[in-house]
Amino acid sequence: MSTFYITTPIYYVNAEPHIGHAYTTIAADVLARYHRLKGESVLFLTGVDEHGANIQKVADEKGIPPQEYCDQIAPTFTKLWQKLNISNDDFIRTTSDLHKAGIAKFFTKLYESGDIYRGKYEGHYCQPCERFYTEKELGESGTCPIHKLSVEKVVEENYFFALTKYQDQLIDLIQSNPSFIEPASRRNEIMSVLTSGLQDISISRSSVDWGIPLPFDPDQNIYVWTEALVNYITALDYHVDGEKFRRFWPANVHMMAKEITRFHVIIWPAMLMAVGLPLPQQIFAHGWLTKDGDKISKTLGNVIDMDELIEEFGLDPFRYFFMREFSFGNDGNYTQQRFVTRYNSDLANDLGNLLNRVLGLLSKNFEVLPDPIQPDAIDEEIKQMALETAEKLDQLMNQTALDVALETVWEFVRRINRYIQQTKVWSLKDDPSRMGTILYNAMEALRVISVFLTPFMPQVAAKIQSQLGIEAKGQDLDSVQEWGGLAGGLPIAKGIPLFPKKDQNRMPQKETGLDSSTDATVDNLITIDQVQDLELRVGQIVSAELVPDSERLLKLIVDLGNEQRQIVAGIARTYAPQDVIGKQAVLVANLQPAKIRGIESQGMLLAAVRKKQLSLVTVDQAIPNGTLVS
Ligand SMILES: [Zn+2]
Repeated sequence: MSTFYITTPIYYVNAEPHIGHAYTTIAADVLARYHRLKGESVLFLTGVDEHGANIQKVADEKGIPPQEYCDQIAPTFTKLWQKLNISNDDFIRTTSDLHKAGIAKFFTKLYESGDIYRGKYEGHYCQPCERFYTEKELGESGTCPIHKLSVEKVVEENYFFALTKYQDQLIDLIQSNPSFIEPASRRNEIMSVLTSGLQDISISRSSVDWGIPLPFDPDQNIYVWTEALVNYITALDYHVDGEKFRRFWPANVHMMAKEITRFHVIIWPAMLMAVGLPLPQQIFAHGWLTKDGDKISKTLGNVIDMDELIEEFGLDPFRYFFMREFSFGNDGNYTQQRFVTRYNSDLANDLGNLLNRVLGLLSKNFEVLPDPIQPDAIDEEIKQMALETAEKLDQLMNQTALDVALETVWEFVRRINRYIQQTKVWSLKDDPSRMGTILYNAMEALRVISVFLTPFMPQVAAKIQSQLGIEAKGQDLDSVQEWGGLAGGLPIAKGIPLFPKKDQNRMPQKETGLDSSTDATVDNLITIDQVQDLELRVGQIVSAELVPDSERLLKLIVDLGNEQRQIVAGIARTYAPQDVIGKQAVLVANLQPAKIRGIESQGMLLAAVRKKQLSLVTVDQAIPNGTLVS
């Protein structure tokens, strides 16, 4: 049986999972499920990366040991994967004994390869990235290309891997096997890095305590990035050369977001070459999501609320949207409006209505599913298109063109809607055998569609199958090669709408942390005590300046009469610094201080927010600073 091994990156546990993690993991899940549907033996691995100075730092801030911190965060990932119906077969933690055993073996082999040497490292280190940058990578600004933060100059004695030795082999690899790195835009970036010259990389740290010691020098811990990459084999029982390792390595696809491409296309293959292991077949690095044109970040308060979307629309429409809307591989911009539009047009109209309509016509005119006893030329076209769609889908899935794959399925969905229109099946009451044949074909087409959709929307596919009167078992890609998988005589189910239509304006328009434009309803009434918990005071803005590298944030000093507070407010899109100086505004004075872009914010200004419009809550008449608002 052919095998398919797909991985996501192991996600760093310095924070809880967000939409970016979900996007990568859903894509990997879709591919894993597709290959299972083809009858292949699939291994789908995800997990978490738990070592390094950043984890140590976050744990220190919380006053707990790093292991305890990791034990708290790791389940937030597994819980999210359950919620998103991710079908991973395994979940690797880098603090596990399994991983440590594999690491000991791998780095021993690497040492024996002769490609490790001791040297003095001098470099530009970005703390949040936990990696060194060359001067060239920092560019003119001299800051980290990801965080735009200034980097630290670090000198230490540690171990190096002779990466430069593999430069030509890596160039050959990518030139002779273009699909090794996809999409093509990433390939060009990597080629320019390779041809402009590599440097050896340091693989250990003498100054970081939270990590795995080098097997040949336990005084140093392995640099977290080089350690993390090896998870793709440690999870397969590499330490004992286990059955899984022999069966599934090399991986078919390492799926990831583009910021970590270089590690996977340069460092990881070079390390594998050094120890003489086969290379993964493909690195697929997709693009980034933005929201309403902005980078998504907690500090900007514009995160995509996954719980809210799933609650309102259902899990599978959530999965569908993210796989369908953006050209997979490129960057994509999320807006709530596009979500609702996509839901209503593709799911509610095209697919949901088709199923309902066909079931309605059947139950009105037949006792059981009729046999297709009176075929016509147009039916052949439908059957042919089903086969062609299966073929195209397979090509597109192999190219990881997930959005185009869905579009191809939808061409078939829309063709069946047109088939209903063209044949005017509803008007054929006097010709029951022809009417029955058309409705049979429509039902069979829906079965085929449900199979195509299984990787993307597994629950919806099962619901369609249940309304067709069949079990999900056996509904695989082989079953669509032959028209007629549905048996005549099946009982006709009552259609239950799968995708109730949504009002475009129903969802709350959350734009910033300050915002809530939902109407007050009886469901969200609060008591006077809850109101009194809030300490609202009048404060006068006495100074204001833009936070560097931010388009939204102003750093304000607010006078409260007997004290001054520093506040970071996301209002710079509406207010220039000089516009707000002197204003008296309303402030939540008993809010726990928070760090925004590394700047402490000691309170929150109230503002009315609607989409991108924003208006500060001020007082009607001058009143002493610090006055309570009640
Ligand atoms: Zn950085």
